Amino acid sequence: MEATVEMVKCACSDCVCVVGTVKAIERDGRLYCSDACADHHPEGAGCHHAGCECHG
Ligand SMILES: [Zn+2]
Ligand SMILES: [Zn+2]
Ligand SMILES: [Zn+2]
Repeated sequence: MEATVEMVKCACSDCVCVVGTVKAIERDGRLYCSDACADHHPEGAGCHHAGCECHG
């Protein structure tokens, strides 16, 4: 049996991260790579992933 990991892009528009659906954070039916993205970067915090500059 093959383990299929589905990858989706984070729903944050500035975010370039791709996250596995099992690890993604779901908020309002959208999938995000991190709490920061899911909360729309309340304090301007980034998602802390390498190469990604999203921070609201
Ligand atoms: Zn990101
Ligand atoms: Zn993100
Ligand atoms: Zn983001």
